[in-house]
Amino acid sequence: MTRVLAPDHAGIAAAAVILQGGGLVALPTETVYGLAADARCDRAVAGIFAAKDRPRFNPLIVHLADMDSARALAAFSPEAETLAAAFWPGPLTLVLRLRDGHGLSPLVTAGLETVALRLPAHPLARAVLQAFGGPLAAPSANPSGRISPTTAAHVLAGLSGRIDAVLDGGPCGVGLESTILDCTGPDCTGAAPVLLRPGGVPSEALAEVLGTAPASPAPTGDAPKAPGMLASHYAPRAALRLNARTPDPGEVWIGFGPDCPSAALSLSPQGDLTEAAAALFHVLHAADATGKPIAVAPVPERGLGRAINDRLRRAAAPRAVG
Ligand code: AMP
Ligand code: MG
Repeated sequence: MTRVLAPDHAGIAAAAVILQGGGLVALPTETVYGLAADARCDRAVAGIFAAKDRPRFNPLIVHLADMDSARALAAFSPEAETLAAAFWPGPLTLVLRLRDGHGLSPLVTAGLETVALRLPAHPLARAVLQAFGGPLAAPSANPSGRISPTTAAHVLAGLSGRIDAVLDGGPCGVGLESTILDCTGPDCTGAAPVLLRPGGVPSEALAEVLGTAPASPAPTGDAPKAPGMLASHYAPRAALRLNARTPDPGEVWIGFGPDCPSAALSLSPQGDLTEAAAALFHVLHAADATGKPIAVAPVPERGLGRAINDRLRRAAAPRAVG
């Protein structure tokens, strides 16, 4: 059952309580409705991917209440400070370098060292962020591959029964997704920010504030950072073997389900795909830390298993040097 929450104090408080319990709430922002979950909680973030039926763990935008929370998570270059001062709160997302001890789930960042941050302007999104008191991961509140929702009715048409609640704030004002700028350039300074996705803040407005037009993403071939094409996805240093029903000598074996009792590590001993998604990056890091080649037990190609297998295949693929 998906609850419809009214845009009043009681609705905002109820949304915050659901989010604090690791639940999923669709919230109005000035761009589109976002499907929010606690960005620090692996299981909650795995729930976003499950509800949207996303076949891939691409990184999510983290929504924050204020600049202090943003500075606590990521390092701001001078350009990023200027952009934040000019456009936040608003429909601009900045990709920045994470600070140590950020506390975000690696599912939010897809295991990257960078994070996409935004301070939304919508009063209801801001009110929920304040009542919740932490960072919220929120991609658009639609099933994967469908059109982004700009009303609560759109959200329910796609996700009813799959999420805990939708806060009904009426139609979204902008209706476009946020503009995404990569401000992680070499050494975080000097280089022009790169436009990863055009959106609610037009390029002309960015150019006026920056004094120069944002750069276009590098042409394909060398580390394209365009959405969905991130070349720097987390990959372990060691070789990784998929669909391993038993480990070879010298391998560290990552199990899934009850058929792998001898596995040193497990994505989910019970064979639960949400648990496995939540554990994925932690278990890969732990396996990598052993310094041994890694073998992973078969994971079923259904539900979140598709995104898990997609990530495992990328981690197993031969990788470019540099
Ligand atoms: P959505 O939340 O569905 O509007 O999409 C978020 C977009 O931000 C995706 O296209 C991601 O690829 C992009 N994104 C999020 N985090 C990063 C990051 N650390 N580096 C580059 N792109 C990112
Ligand atoms: Mg989307």
